[in-house]
Amino acid sequence: MPLHPVPARPDGLPDRIRHWIGGAFRDSADGAVFDVADPVSNSPYASAAAGGAADVDLAVAAARDAFPAWAAMGDRERANLLYRVADAVEEREDRLAGFESFDSGLPIAQARGQARRAAENFRYFADVIVALGEEAYRVGDRQLNYVVRSPTGVAGLITPWNTPFMLESWKLAPALAAGCPVVLKPAEWTPLSANLWPEILSAAGVPDGVVNIVHGIGAEAGQALVDHPDVPLISFTGSTTTGRHIVRSSAEHLKTLSMELGGKSPVVVFADADLDAALDSVLFGVFSLNGERCTAGSRVLVERSVYDDFTRRLAERAERVRVGAPGDPSTEVGALVHPEHYARVMDYVETGRGEAKLVAGGGRPSHLPEGNYLQPTVFADVPRDARIFQEEIFGPVVAVAPFDDEAEAVELANSTRYGLAAYVWTGDLRRGHRVAHAVESGMVWVNSHNVRDLRTPFGGVKDSGLGREGGAHSIDFFTESKIVHVML
Ligand code: NAD
Repeated sequence: MPLHPVPARPDGLPDRIRHWIGGAFRDSADGAVFDVADPVSNSPYASAAAGGAADVDLAVAAARDAFPAWAAMGDRERANLLYRVADAVEEREDRLAGFESFDSGLPIAQARGQARRAAENFRYFADVIVALGEEAYRVGDRQLNYVVRSPTGVAGLITPWNTPFMLESWKLAPALAAGCPVVLKPAEWTPLSANLWPEILSAAGVPDGVVNIVHGIGAEAGQALVDHPDVPLISFTGSTTTGRHIVRSSAEHLKTLSMELGGKSPVVVFADADLDAALDSVLFGVFSLNGERCTAGSRVLVERSVYDDFTRRLAERAERVRVGAPGDPSTEVGALVHPEHYARVMDYVETGRGEAKLVAGGGRPSHLPEGNYLQPTVFADVPRDARIFQEEIFGPVVAVAPFDDEAEAVELANSTRYGLAAYVWTGDLRRGHRVAHAVESGMVWVNSHNVRDLRTPFGGVKDSGLGREGGAHSIDFFTESKIVHVML
């Protein structure tokens, strides 16, 4: 499909964003709203309903009403509905990507990729649910033991502002495939693309009440969902701080939790690697999606013999990355999502100047006087105790440091509290496996970009999360298993 520029204000932009409960748009019970701004003008373009406990109550009640019929529907019938959701997403790719890019600052070309991935998530989980078998065991000819899986109940889905629509689809698709109705609480900085779900789900024929959306501030709408006694499971993607808080709040009702949290993922580059490929991958890994990517390779560890050369080339390439308007198809890094986040990332850049050597970027591009723009930024010689080495920045900022041998590489890779992803580049495949096994992370890519295989478990260790989503792991999360023992 040809890329074409998206106007600064996409056509069809709503000026009100409302909850969607039981198949109807609704304002908040108390009429509360909040302003939603785009990250280029930073001025409000819409007001969104600010949900609270009363709205979450209504949404949970609608989901509970829809639960018996949705759970009882055959897997094939449910899968067919999910295929139709995928079709409906694809039919709206232009509008969806345009909205996402406008609202979140994501470059339009990358927003299109995320829209396609959202459709793929629905197709994939439709396939999973019809293909999934159940366990059965026979004890000689005396006993048969088999597992019955059933959807757990109303699922609470809480999502962040980075690639919002895609991450919503990543939770909606398996929850629906498994037979759970849902209440989704989208991120308050980027509610625009979520406002397309009602149209998409209705076009696909998903029954009213199966998906309910309550917009609002995390501490209010999100917290009400976490606290609701009739929501037995919460799938959360967001920051480690919020994740920790949700785990504590959920203790009262012993909820089933999936926590996809922050990261500070290492890229380990050995001297014997294909250094051109490693360089391409480092640039992609930390600067695509504006660096607002949980699996960003934001710490690059390079073997000392090639360190100076690799760092110099990385800095040169970073300077050439095209920063520009999110709607311009040639843009590679757009605007950071929100002025508050922009200020936070800029603070890290200032901190970094005192901690390490700035070799590329470090400020606002001169041709972009307005909007949340930052030049792709590279810091070299970053000590391991530096804040820019330890803390998740979640922007186009990368910390580079040298290592002398494999043991030091692994030790440095593991020297943060996070453990989401890791990347290893080496010409020695045995070493690639060794380092992959030694690195503390949920996912490792060896001589590879961050390419997702939806069948594999996705998640982190240490402060990066609890549990795994992806493939049958997602279905496990949204279902309860019961074992039935039968004497024959
Ligand atoms: P955040 O934690 O501030 O917010 C995430 C969501 O939680 C939002 O919808 C917010 O409204 C809600 N929330 C906030 N307080 C809440 C509360 N008390 N109760 C219930 N909900 C509440 O995170 P963010 O800034 O939107 O997202 C960026 C973070 O997400 C980064 O740390 C990033 O690494 C992480 N992330 C992780 C993954 C992953 O798969 N591991 C993927 C994407 C993003």
